[in-house]
Amino acid sequence: MFGIFNPGQEAAAPSIYYGLCALQHRGQESCGIAVCDTHGPRGNICQHKDMGLVGEVFHPGTLDALKGNLGIGHVRYSTTGASTVENAQPLVLNYLKGTLALAHNGNILNASEIRQQLSECGAIFRSTTDSEVIACHIARERTRTLRVEDAIYRTAQVLKGGYALVIMSPRKLIGVRDPLGLKPLCLGKRDDSYILASESCALTAVDATYVRDIMPGEIVTITKDGVHSDCRLSQEKRAHCIFEYIYFARLDSVMDGVSIYDARVRAGMALAASFPADADLVVGVPDSGMAAAAGYSKASGLPFALAFHKNSYVGRTFIKPTQKERESAVHMKLAVLQNVVKDKRIVLIDDSIVRGTTIAGLIEMLKKAGAKQVHVRISSPPFLYPCYYGTDVPSNDQLIASSHTTDEICDRIGADSLHYMKIEDFHLMTGDLPLCKACFDNRYPI
Ligand code: AMP
Repeated sequence: MFGIFNPGQEAAAPSIYYGLCALQHRGQESCGIAVCDTHGPRGNICQHKDMGLVGEVFHPGTLDALKGNLGIGHVRYSTTGASTVENAQPLVLNYLKGTLALAHNGNILNASEIRQQLSECGAIFRSTTDSEVIACHIARERTRTLRVEDAIYRTAQVLKGGYALVIMSPRKLIGVRDPLGLKPLCLGKRDDSYILASESCALTAVDATYVRDIMPGEIVTITKDGVHSDCRLSQEKRAHCIFEYIYFARLDSVMDGVSIYDARVRAGMALAASFPADADLVVGVPDSGMAAAAGYSKASGLPFALAFHKNSYVGRTFIKPTQKERESAVHMKLAVLQNVVKDKRIVLIDDSIVRGTTIAGLIEMLKKAGAKQVHVRISSPPFLYPCYYGTDVPSNDQLIASSHTTDEICDRIGADSLHYMKIEDFHLMTGDLPLCKACFDNRYPI
């Protein structure tokens, strides 16, 4: 998610476009931008959204047509609701007291309950998404409140789950973060303009400076008068998603005070300390395992090398729907550098094993290219439990670690040894940051 308020006349859409490009790793199914002119008549929201990557959906013409100094944008990968253009965001809602546009990251646990209550009061839903439930709840509360941010506060009071929201009303840009801080959101500034973004890498992309992370439970309202913060929903208990640090966030982002790159390097160092290997080279799976491989090399003293060439023009293999498509996609995306790996004992690092498809394919490729041994080290513990807060971890029956021991997995993927990072080593990665690590330990914070 990305939102910007330019107090002057400067168009919001170009910055949103660049911001979304920097956030593309967070969702590749659909994307959209909604803008409005805070100097013009109230409620004229203009939007464009479609299926596809940011660079495919937006062109100079489409961006020029999006006139307005205030706007929000979104890239989507679906965790609830089908992957269709109707469910693409931002969601624009016209209601009795006005118009709003909403972008949402996360998953609402009590969405069906809220949907039911709203339906009983006459609300008609056009999609099955949590985002529409949130927008409709805000619209209903808006009839009882003076300001849109109060309606948002009353909605956030009833939402249970992991969420971050970026909302545009005709004169305001509003950001919300769930009280546990499961989902990320940060604030940036460029001249007089304020920006909200899921990750700090999107701020750098538009030449803005990082101001701070939105606090868990905070509602921040940005108007022509500046930034106002409401922390009534803040609580002591916090649980930042560990998966952002392991895999999801971009390497150059800083999230809740922790650099993603540093966290991954430290994870690799922890792996090397716990699970050394008798080997010649350390290599990483591009791109997800590279920083941890650098850390493993640093702590072990083994040389770091590039074992794969990545074809950047093929999409993420994980998002391909069938197992067969996923397998062939691994081979399309990565090619082995045979002269680097031939006759070598390799330590191969990746951030995670989900189904085991990626790593099995890579080991096969390395061995075919003449690698003598492949010792796999994974910079996260075994994935055992699903995520209910909006990270796309497949159901238990597809998680290889939930039905196989580490030795069995080692055998299945064809590795010479396999070790996962210890769950008690997370603090070496993220310091004393309070974490949600339910996908590893089954302890769900909600
Ligand atoms: P798999 O091949 O199913 O074992 O998936 C593991 C690969 O997918 C690793 O290289 C991870 O970096 C990547 N990965 C892990 N979790 C996710 C996720 N939620 N979305 C997309 N890719 C993921």
